[in-house]
Amino acid sequence: MMAEMGLVAARERATLPGTMRQRMHHMRYSGFRVIAEALRGHKGWTPAWRDPVPQAAYDYVIVGGGGHGLATAHYLAKEFGQARIAVLEKGYLGGGNVGRNTTIIRSNYLLDGNQPFYEFSLKLWEGLEQDFNYNAMVSQRGIINLIHTDGQRDAYTRRGNAMMMHGADAELLNRDQVRAMYPFLNFDNARFPIKGALMQRRGGTVRHDAVAWGYARGADSRGVDLIQNCEVTGMRIENGRILGVETSRGFIGAKKVGVAVAGSSSRVMAHAGMRLPIESHVLQAFVSEGLKPVIDGVMTFGAGHFYVSQSDKGGLVFGGDIDGYNSYAQRGNLPVIEDVAEGGMALMPMIGRARLLRAWGGIMDMSMDGSPIIDKTHIDGLYFNGGWCYGGFKATPASGWCFAHLLARDVPHPTATAYRFDRFLKGRMIDEKGQGAQPNLH
Ligand SMILES: Cc1cc2nc3c(=O)[nH]c(=O)nc-3n(C[C@H](O)[C@H](O)[C@H](O)COP(=O)(O)OP(=O)(O)OC[C@H]3O[C@@H](n4cnc5c(N)ncnc54)[C@H](O)[C@@H]3O)c2cc1C
Repeated sequence: MMAEMGLVAARERATLPGTMRQRMHHMRYSGFRVIAEALRGHKGWTPAWRDPVPQAAYDYVIVGGGGHGLATAHYLAKEFGQARIAVLEKGYLGGGNVGRNTTIIRSNYLLDGNQPFYEFSLKLWEGLEQDFNYNAMVSQRGIINLIHTDGQRDAYTRRGNAMMMHGADAELLNRDQVRAMYPFLNFDNARFPIKGALMQRRGGTVRHDAVAWGYARGADSRGVDLIQNCEVTGMRIENGRILGVETSRGFIGAKKVGVAVAGSSSRVMAHAGMRLPIESHVLQAFVSEGLKPVIDGVMTFGAGHFYVSQSDKGGLVFGGDIDGYNSYAQRGNLPVIEDVAEGGMALMPMIGRARLLRAWGGIMDMSMDGSPIIDKTHIDGLYFNGGWCYGGFKATPASGWCFAHLLARDVPHPTATAYRFDRFLKGRMIDEKGQGAQPNLH
């Protein structure tokens, strides 16, 4: 009986207009609130978002409660004034890559199709915590890409110039400047001597799962229904138009459906009969035991695939190449652990003294040129956002904003005009790494 009443109340709540629901649930976080709650035994905190019962139909259904799906819903409601929005997540919010990545943000891209988009994203990161009223620990601690050859210095100089021409910040550091920052690096390694670095001071790290929680709270406070444990298992399409999605909690109608499921892109879009230019691969991440502060920024090795930062708890957070075979398993294998460890040892031999505390994997939606897709499909009302490879965390704010722009206005956002399906047809690849059509290398 009680459960039934709860269900009815939840249904009623779910059907209330957005502003009323907002009043019921939204609690503003602030320093004063923390002090006030401390004084009354923390009894006044309310849940960060509701647990609504799905309605029969929405104007917008976003599939995937990761960073991109939640950001899309947040901006659809907040920036584009849209309502009747739901996010459907098959597990729990933030259980995918948004909660599994190595938290690096930056806009140090070279190509025209990418640089303005990632710079837009970095600017959004800079105001994010105020925007969604949540502490996501945005930390612009700086990122350096190490240089090991003269040719690489030329390439990074060109990249730095491209960044500055698009309004981003970039600096070229010489060897002594790098040595002053990180004296423990292996500067005289016979194969990979360190000759300098490209630095972006505005790059850094963000507490990854707090990004999911912040966007979830922001969206919920504007009336978006966040529906967890709700897997999309099919799509209802008639006469070339999407009518809604079949889910583990029944059919949910929608005028527009936006898919943002990262590593599951191929599987979900197969429900619409689409085969994507995307492969799924595993990427692993690693955290060492807690150490005293030693790396105060983010660093990438230029002669192998290894990147490292230090978490606020002291663990060295690092990663490298993807596992190299197609998989939907959220775990990796030992050969890549060995490869990443070798990269770390070549760069900073002292890492060999640190013990590995944890390792995990996430599923990457690797596109054929390493760049994303934010586009309409040939099915009316069905939109797609994916192909982020292992770089989609830094893109979260801009990806959400641009996808919301496309869903609400039916035209691409000016910074995302190149992220279309037809670039593969027309040969207009955005191949930042110059690897060709080899997703496992991007
Ligand atoms: C180990 C690792 C390190 C990384 N490091 C970085 C980094 O340092 N910097 C960076 O920029 N990027 C990094 N990335 C990449 C980044 O994490 C991803 O590109 C990005 O998080 C993907 O977008 P998302 O957050 O929306 O994905 P996700 O969080 O994976 O969200 C997709 C959601 O869709 C849900 N879903 C799937 N199928 C269905 C279905 N049928 N129905 C309903 N829901 C469904 C999933 O459960 C999931 O929650 C890293 C990734 C990994 C795994």
